[in-house]
Amino acid sequence: MEELVKTQLEYSDGEGEMSRSASFSNRLSPQAFAEKAQTRPSREEAEAAVRTLLRWAGDNPDREGLQDTPKRVVKAYEEYFQGYRQNGEELLGRVFSEVENYSDIVLVRDINFCSHCEHHVAPFLGKAHIAYYPTYGVVGLSKLARLVDVFAHRLQTQETMTAQIAQALVTHLKPRGVAVMLEAEHMCMSMRGIRKHGSLTVTVQFSGLFEDNAEQQARFYTLLRGAR
Ligand SMILES: [Zn+2]
Repeated sequence: MEELVKTQLEYSDGEGEMSRSASFSNRLSPQAFAEKAQTRPSREEAEAAVRTLLRWAGDNPDREGLQDTPKRVVKAYEEYFQGYRQNGEELLGRVFSEVENYSDIVLVRDINFCSHCEHHVAPFLGKAHIAYYPTYGVVGLSKLARLVDVFAHRLQTQETMTAQIAQALVTHLKPRGVAVMLEAEHMCMSMRGIRKHGSLTVTVQFSGLFEDNAEQQARFYTLLRGAR
């Protein structure tokens, strides 16, 4: 798992483009794909697609309780996936003014997030933990939470999301080291497939000072456990 995450870190834009050998459209970031191909459907088309899925589920989209559901689902999609219209660069670009005279480790623990897996469009919910050693200064804690949200509000795999958060921090904050851990429960595992509740998937990405440094990694894990 860590190997997979590491290969994606090589991409400089932090958007996690997946495969160099894939077709042209696969190589574009989701945003670039939408812009170039103008693939974004109209609201009416999106609502019609929801009606189709309701019929596929076996219900009647014209019955009273479902009449406004396509509208609501499409609106909810705008919120679930608003991360496609945001970028971490803008967010972190504004942090450099917040310079403080502090250079030891900063750890922000238990940042709640809700994302959707790109395989089933099912929610996965969990917590992100971020640690870094500042070079130029520290960022406001809420900015880290908003950074997590930008990447969570896209279709994701947990591995890619972990790498994207770490990469965004490396690129825009230029810290001496970054550690990102995500723990999440995937509804596509709880509600379908093997239907196992309560299992957590944990992903970790280390870079800089933390990379291949057992002592720094141990410090990260110790701080994470502390005061629980
Ligand atoms: Zn899934």
